Amino acid sequence: MPANSIEELPGVGPATAEKLRDAGYVDLMAIAVESPKVLSEVAEIGESTAVKIINAAKQAADVGGFETGDVILERRRNINKLTSCSKAFDELMGGGLETQAITEFYGEFGSGKTQICFQLAVNAGRPVDEGGLDGNVFIIDTENTFRPERIVQMAAALDIDPEEALKKIHVARAFNSHHQMLLVEKAQELAHDLRVRLMIVDSLTAHFRAEYVGRGALAERQQNLNKHMHDLLRFGDLNNAVVAVTNQVSAKPDAFFGDPTRPIGGHIVGHAATYRLYLRKSKGGKRIARLIDSPNLPEAEAVISVSEDGIRD
Ligand code: ADP
Ligand code: MG
Repeated sequence: MPANSIEELPGVGPATAEKLRDAGYVDLMAIAVESPKVLSEVAEIGESTAVKIINAAKQAADVGGFETGDVILERRRNINKLTSCSKAFDELMGGGLETQAITEFYGEFGSGKTQICFQLAVNAGRPVDEGGLDGNVFIIDTENTFRPERIVQMAAALDIDPEEALKKIHVARAFNSHHQMLLVEKAQELAHDLRVRLMIVDSLTAHFRAEYVGRGALAERQQNLNKHMHDLLRFGDLNNAVVAVTNQVSAKPDAFFGDPTRPIGGHIVGHAATYRLYLRKSKGGKRIARLIDSPNLPEAEAVISVSEDGIRD
């Protein structure tokens, strides 16, 4: 009989199961795709035991299956595009930010990441024929930078009742990375019967970066970030929602990724994000957004402006 839970894997007692869970291996799939070396370090077990555990997890994990292209095309027909209020930026993104995908904005402090999030939050409440998603918004605020006053300004500039706009935006402060992860794990329940069509995590990486310091902590940080990204993508799929996350660049060399213009979280975040955008300041309040990585769009740039009214061309 294949195992149904981590505890049922051969060689996994309660203590090992707890260590695995604490390190972010919450299901059989996560164990099935891990290497024996990493698993033995994380769970403090021998490598041969780790091999046995991984093999058993491979037998038991639900690996999913193949779908034909027409089925995938049908699902993609439901995808909506959320406007940014900048034509140039929307064009860069093939018409706007896509639902069922993660869009990552990374850049230095002050590059406009949070302002873009505010604009998206206002826009998501608008009707679909105006580039909105006719839904509610979840914002996970990790740096205490949510400002309802900015929402009021941006809504008023679009002739939207600011009160109405604010009522659609649900904000949770995340006090540390575990809290942040838990909010996303529970987002489906927390949504009750709200139509949440936009999930924002601003900032995705700040807590992780502050809490996991040094080379020894890197493997665990990346594991948790990986799980977090997959939970976010799942939320986006289940709700046909846009997922927008912000990320910093490492000003001082990160333990692994020394390049100062590199986003935090390296490959883990990069692979899970469907679209990556690099924001940088330009002259006169302008910002340049560069699309770095996309499955279906060319690498290109758009110039946007950040003003009192919000994001514009
Ligand atoms: P970060 O990338 O660190 O999240 P922000 O999105 O907070 O950066 O961008 C901050 C910048 O946004 C400010 O430096 C300013 O240029 C612009 N900004 C913020 N509020 C306003 C406003 N009310 N009117 C015009 N520009 C603003
Ligand atoms: Mg910010």
